[in-house]
Amino acid sequence: MRHVPRSSQPLPDDLLEKMQAENDENIAIAERNRAEPDPKQHEDHVFKMYSSALLKPFLNKLFHGKCAYCESLYISTMPVDVEHWRPKSEVVVEPEDGSKSFKVGGYYWLAASWDNLLPSCIDCNRRRYQQEYAPELVGRPEKAQRSLIGKKNYFPLADETRRAKLPREELNEEPLLLHPCNDVELEQAFQYEAAMAGMVIPDSRAVPALQRRAEASIYGYALNRSGLVYARNEFLLDLRERFHLLERLAELWARPPSRVNTELEKQQFRLQIEELMDREMQELRRACHVSRPYSLMAQQVVSQFLARLFADNPDDAAEVATRRTAILDEIRATEARSGSRRID
Ligand SMILES: [Zn+2]
Repeated sequence: MRHVPRSSQPLPDDLLEKMQAENDENIAIAERNRAEPDPKQHEDHVFKMYSSALLKPFLNKLFHGKCAYCESLYISTMPVDVEHWRPKSEVVVEPEDGSKSFKVGGYYWLAASWDNLLPSCIDCNRRRYQQEYAPELVGRPEKAQRSLIGKKNYFPLADETRRAKLPREELNEEPLLLHPCNDVELEQAFQYEAAMAGMVIPDSRAVPALQRRAEASIYGYALNRSGLVYARNEFLLDLRERFHLLERLAELWARPPSRVNTELEKQQFRLQIEELMDREMQELRRACHVSRPYSLMAQQVVSQFLARLFADNPDDAAEVATRRTAILDEIRATEARSGSRRID
């Protein structure tokens, strides 16, 4: 999951007006239903705009054709679910004490709100039996348990008694799920490491409230289902190959082979090494960009790698240290720009 500012993709006014009209209609329907004592006479809500073909191109563009939750690229292989972050019809509450789940009314007044709509892959959005990743079961798929996971109508709150029943009451809620557009701090909530084989965990350095939200989001969006973890791990293996190559190039830069004798030869040799390092760094920058799959994981493991590369070699020449610091700064600058620019 990456933070994506909604402001980077505004909707045309005429589309916004149509969406607001549908929300207003649903509020009016709810008022009429409340005044009607006979449930058989109640009107159904109108939920059309969220699935409008007019809307999807804007969601695709905003999230670069990726699932807003798991960062898988859906655009080339699967239809997208237009997902209501706050469920439109009903919410399934799963009490933390393990007692039986129950249903409460949904957020019909937000069914066509741009801010409440996200593009999601089927595995994140739908509640289905899926296999959760377990390191001890790798290579033994017959032992793996399948669990009912995926978001669907799951929308937990820190305090269930503050659940909104009417429009605008949602402003008093404290949602536990992280929102890719609204929660700027979400990139500090999740932790990936090269050694974790593609698993994600709440970041132990985050404040407890944010860790709790990360935990709810990992469960709610099924972010550790085995197929997704394997896909992230494949991506990590590619990154590790690039790390290995960069390490080798950094060694050669610091200690040119003995056949390189004169200062001029050393300078020429190092220029060639720098060119190769620059190419590898360009690939790492691309992998970290918000438009690429699993980019938050890439950002974190690339930053960890570069910090380690620097820390593991304190005795290197000052020039090498400067060079590595520059590379690290470049990655951090890429992080700071995330969400607003493409790397051309
Ligand atoms: Zn997904």
